[in-house]
Amino acid sequence: MSAVSGRSWPAEKYGGMGEEDFRFEQIIIEETVRAGCGCWFNTLHSRLVGPYLQRFGTEEQRERFLPGCVSGETILAIAMTEAGAGSDLAGMGTTVTDQGDHYLLNGSKTFISNGINADLVVVAAKPAGAEKRHDMVLLLVERGMEGFERGRNLKKMGLSAQDTAELFFSNVKVPKANVLGEPGKGFYHLMEGLAEERLISAVGAAANARRAFDMTREYAMQRKMFGSVLSEQQNTQFRMAEMDAEIDLVQTYVDLCVVEHNQGRLTSNMGAKAKMLTTEVEWKMMDLGVQLHGGHGYMDEYPISHMFTDARINRILAGSSEVMRLIIGRDVFSQNYRSLLS
Ligand SMILES: Cc1cc2nc3c(=O)[nH]c(=O)nc-3n(C[C@H](O)[C@H](O)[C@H](O)COP(=O)(O)OP(=O)(O)OC[C@H]3O[C@@H](n4cnc5c(N)ncnc54)[C@H](O)[C@@H]3O)c2cc1C
Repeated sequence: MSAVSGRSWPAEKYGGMGEEDFRFEQIIIEETVRAGCGCWFNTLHSRLVGPYLQRFGTEEQRERFLPGCVSGETILAIAMTEAGAGSDLAGMGTTVTDQGDHYLLNGSKTFISNGINADLVVVAAKPAGAEKRHDMVLLLVERGMEGFERGRNLKKMGLSAQDTAELFFSNVKVPKANVLGEPGKGFYHLMEGLAEERLISAVGAAANARRAFDMTREYAMQRKMFGSVLSEQQNTQFRMAEMDAEIDLVQTYVDLCVVEHNQGRLTSNMGAKAKMLTTEVEWKMMDLGVQLHGGHGYMDEYPISHMFTDARINRILAGSSEVMRLIIGRDVFSQNYRSLLS
């Protein structure tokens, strides 16, 4: 298990905070969820995509792009997924052809968050004719580049505040100055950011589960039935007791991961465990929340109804629960295996 943490925050000279302490990020995510604003990916720009520029960008790229990203004038997105390649990222069909001083980019992406609003998109593509499955190039594709088109804003089950779009690339001429990181190593660059990306998902999912718990608790305490209140039913107490314990447990694990991350010791195994456990517990809580709200829980005017549909993607996005199990399972049977506390 090798640690995969790295410096992520823009330095002060680009307008960033400079200091690296993931607890700032944790507090922002948790408070945003508590305020009921978790229905769009506010960390996507600042914490998922921005760090790629800080980590892998050249000095010239950082100077050119980071100040606009920090001020909010340049909105970021990352485009990996294609209609035929999601979990299996290396199976993508978008290609780049080396033309000397530039690359020609061809292909399409789908389900891209900020796809409509983005000014700068980190696009993953494979060198045309690549022999190695994991050969990949990351390109910084800018709004207005000829041949770069956006499709429609896709209609979704939830997360209506977040734009999600298809992107199309037809002979887009991308200067070599816009290659991010080492050409051919793009797949590994993406992998480096994933442990933190999963921890971000986990922080949000644990906070969201607790919010749904609190909301359901309050509802159960005031909903009258059979001469008493819902909270006095043994079924309600047993099921909420189980959720209270499970949410506390995952929160404790998430907090431990945050400490490990701040020490540069967060591994892909830890990130995967945190994401898998929190999103599964979150989903269990959403389902129970709607159930205990009865028919009201199915109505738009009750927040638990939106939370239910918004949360459904969390077991799929940023690596599905099944992919998390693959990562953890591979580690369990590796030579270097050790459990977190051993
Ligand atoms: C709202 C939304 C926003 C998104 N934002 C972005 C974005 O900004 N950028 C981006 O690049 N992508 C984005 N995505 C794409 C997202 O990352 C993918 O949907 C996700 O990776 C799953 O890929 P897929 O949809 O192709 O499903 P598939 O990979 O086809 O998976 C289908 C099912 O098979 C399971 N599965 C896959 N592989 C295995 C395996 N080896 N063993 C067992 N089971 C397996 C999966 O867990 C899943 O249950 C977004 C998606 C949504 C819905």
